[in-house]
Amino acid sequence: MAGKKFDYAPAPESRAVVDLQPAYGLFIGGEFVDPVDGRAFKTVSPATEEVLAEISEAGTRDVDRAVAAARRAYERVWSKLPARERGKYLFRIARILQERARELAVLESLDNGKPIRESRDVDIPLVAAWFFHYAGWADKLEYAGVSTASSGPPKPLGVAGQIIPWNFPLLMLAWKIAPALACGNTVVLKPAETTSLTALLFAEICQQADLPPGVVNIVTGAGETGRALVEHPGVDKIAFTGSTEVGKMIARSTAGTGKKVTLELGGKAANIVFDDAPVDQAVEGIVNGIFFNQGHVCCAGSRLLVQESAYDEVLTSLKRRLGTLRLGDPLDKNTDIGAINSPEQLGRIRELSDVGESEGAARWSPPCELPDKGFWFPPTIFTGVSQAHRIAREEIFGPVLSVLTFRTPAEAVEKANNTPYGLSAGVWTDKGSRILWMAGQLRAGVVWANTFNRFDPASPFGGYKESGFGREGGRHGLEAYLDV
Ligand code: NAD
Repeated sequence: MAGKKFDYAPAPESRAVVDLQPAYGLFIGGEFVDPVDGRAFKTVSPATEEVLAEISEAGTRDVDRAVAAARRAYERVWSKLPARERGKYLFRIARILQERARELAVLESLDNGKPIRESRDVDIPLVAAWFFHYAGWADKLEYAGVSTASSGPPKPLGVAGQIIPWNFPLLMLAWKIAPALACGNTVVLKPAETTSLTALLFAEICQQADLPPGVVNIVTGAGETGRALVEHPGVDKIAFTGSTEVGKMIARSTAGTGKKVTLELGGKAANIVFDDAPVDQAVEGIVNGIFFNQGHVCCAGSRLLVQESAYDEVLTSLKRRLGTLRLGDPLDKNTDIGAINSPEQLGRIRELSDVGESEGAARWSPPCELPDKGFWFPPTIFTGVSQAHRIAREEIFGPVLSVLTFRTPAEAVEKANNTPYGLSAGVWTDKGSRILWMAGQLRAGVVWANTFNRFDPASPFGGYKESGFGREGGRHGLEAYLDV
């Protein structure tokens, strides 16, 4: 998309740092093992469709083995270890993650399709930060404010079954595993079927850190493997991040079982720009809000609400800025927009975008050449969107922005809250009082002010309504893994 005159020379990150194996087993009881029934599937690079490796598919008997290994490790080792010792393992893992950051970033970009700039500067640093943060909590759980003097020190739950999506593979793993281990639980984690590779490298890191066998188990596979984990009677806690549809199924199947459940689901966040906002900063925030990670972000600012009096200025600036985004090779350090993770997701983005057009919204993309191979979608803006349009109501989970307008703060709040979701929101204005008022009115777990998509391990994250329940991150994130 860059102009013809001054183009960027390619600056690809080397793949040599990654040691890809042709096939991977399941990580159970501290070692890589073959699945009982020997089934496997291929994982491809979404940017080139090249087969990267064969991944084992765990069946119910494999899930059974993994849960048994986690139970043994919980009862014999992990729950008996002094909290400080648990913390030391987490610190060790965090340091190894930092040491191997480059390798992890390249592997994440290869397998997921996200730009190396993001995996290198956002995902992997946050992964290490999450482990450092929870390493610090391991021996301070009594001071987390989740227990009382009479209830005694908080206790772990036991074995946690954790299921994560493909959009931030290693970061979602960190959000799940770090607090679970810090609180004294052992885990069986299932990565998403299209992005298992960094979870399997993490398994190697557990070995390198001498983590006692069975404390972390990784079972790869698709929805059926996830279902076997959710339904396993030996699991005490289910933590799920993914679609609202699967979240609802999990809520139904765990009801009445006594399993503790947290769900982090979809979103359709409003990014609200008032006419007194600094336009250039707001435009950067809009771009970061919806085009970061190709829009595969549950808290993406996928609905832009612009005050009518600022509409022309904001839209002109936004379109100019989109013209400078570079789409292409995820391993190129200049790339802003990478590949769509899978043909299924690309199909869904295309379908909903077509619906947007047929419902009467105006579609716009900057001039943009898409590579011949791989799964790609250009950054796209829809204007003339009304609240009734499907592209204003449904999660597209791609680089597609729906633009709506408002006149008064009250109208902005009403439109922002007019969604079944409630994960995040953004407010852009010069007035502190308005930020505080808006934050109080918006039904969203996170409200960003004059910024968007900021994450910190000390800050809780989670949703309202169909975006799920429970909080991850910070002190609040400990509650999900403690018997309180
Ligand atoms: P998905 O629900 O299809 O898959 C998520 C995970 O669940 C995958 O590992 C999948 O294999 C597994 N799974 C599928 N069917 C299952 C079943 N019946 N039982 C148990 N596990 C099952 O979602 P996706 O398409 O991979 O991810 C995109 C969705 O995730 C989006 O809706 C997005 O908003 C949401 N998401 C939410 C957050 C958050 O923190 N709230 C973060 C990232 C993604």
